[in-house]
Amino acid sequence: MLQLLRYYEILLDYSSLLFYNILAMSGYYYIFTYGCQMNVHESEKIAGLLREIGYVQSSDCETADVIVFNTCCIRDTAEKKILGNIGDVKHLKKNNPSLIVAVVGCMTQQKGIAESLKNKFPFVNIILGTHNIEELPKLVSDIDNKIIKRQISVSSEDNPEICETMPIYRTSGTNAWVNIMYGCNNFCTYCIVPYVRGRERSRAPETILSEIKNLLANGYKEITLLGQNVDSYSYEGYDFAYLLEKISEIGGKFRVRFMTSHPKDFNGKVIDIIKNSPNICNNIHLPVQSGSNRILGLMNRRYTRERYLEIIDEIYDKIPSAGITSDIMVGFPTETDEDFQDTLSLTERVRFSNAFTFVYSPRNGTVAAGMEQLPYSVKRERIKTLVALQNKISAEKSLDYIDNIEEILVEDVNPKKPGTVCGRTESGRLVTFSGEKALIGEFVNVKITSAKSSALWGVKE
Ligand code: SF4
Repeated sequence: MLQLLRYYEILLDYSSLLFYNILAMSGYYYIFTYGCQMNVHESEKIAGLLREIGYVQSSDCETADVIVFNTCCIRDTAEKKILGNIGDVKHLKKNNPSLIVAVVGCMTQQKGIAESLKNKFPFVNIILGTHNIEELPKLVSDIDNKIIKRQISVSSEDNPEICETMPIYRTSGTNAWVNIMYGCNNFCTYCIVPYVRGRERSRAPETILSEIKNLLANGYKEITLLGQNVDSYSYEGYDFAYLLEKISEIGGKFRVRFMTSHPKDFNGKVIDIIKNSPNICNNIHLPVQSGSNRILGLMNRRYTRERYLEIIDEIYDKIPSAGITSDIMVGFPTETDEDFQDTLSLTERVRFSNAFTFVYSPRNGTVAAGMEQLPYSVKRERIKTLVALQNKISAEKSLDYIDNIEEILVEDVNPKKPGTVCGRTESGRLVTFSGEKALIGEFVNVKITSAKSSALWGVKE
């Protein structure tokens, strides 16, 4: 009976498809996604791959036939959570012995981790690295057809070819993520990314432009360009400024955002294009990490506090309404009170509209993991002070919006307040106002009437 019900649900999910497609269906998938937007987009590719072999999305992991953990190893806390979550699905195998469990993503690329996952979780069937995710459908089919039971496939290749034929099942509403490059060459001493994502590889501009044109033709209103360091995009002599300019020349009403920028590569050409192109949002995420030159040197960030502030001044000078956000770390090895005061004074000076503030955690295999570590109590006090300062600045900056008329791209209904919808200003601030679901995907002028912390409220003009 359960089987019949399951089959009936699958029929409903695919009711618009032809009969022969229904016969090809295989069951349900559920994906756990950890980490940043890059990983959210990777999960859209994993979903695309699974849908190609007939799987459809399950609303929870209990009813899934394939469970995928798309992991992230950037922070220690994420890694611990992932290991706990993998352990938690073991019992599902008892009820459904044919359940297939896969662990993919950058955690598996770390030295020795694939082997340790294999030993620790014997019920995991597939372990795949970041460079060979396209093998997933074949492995799932082979396990489903009892050809194999388990497979580990992790390539240590630093410069793998970019797969341009990956199917993508997009789930991000009005926004579509578009990778412009992969990997990183920077080797910041605290960061594991270059070890697990390989060297920088950029996609051809014409391929990116054609993907974007296609997305716009399909109704997407916002494109977010993704890369570990978009400013070092480089393809046969074409740079990031060129790419942005070409995208801005595509006709029609849409918005472009991009992340993440690196202060060492961010330049005036990019600022000019943002200023002169109505489609390119004046929302710039420029991670500073620390305000101390000594710590920036130890981090191998390759810019100084002075250079960072010079860039900020140029942005505000050319684009006064820019929304600048940042990543700020506290507790890097050997960070003194004086170093921390430098971070606070930089935060005060820049007045970020928002910042992702976090405590340094050592990652195995990175240079900083071998440096002298600070006690947690020091890190805890510093993060509290930094968060309080940034919250105060965000709240003050919110007041600057009051009485402004802002153009909002409506993204969603606000589930906490029926009858209201929310979306972002060009500068990236979230605004809530009265409106119906039908407004999703529309550009609406909204007068900002009140503000609390970094959230804004308004009324439709
Ligand atoms: S730029 Fe630095 S922090 Fe960013 S991904 Fe590369 S190594 Fe990591």
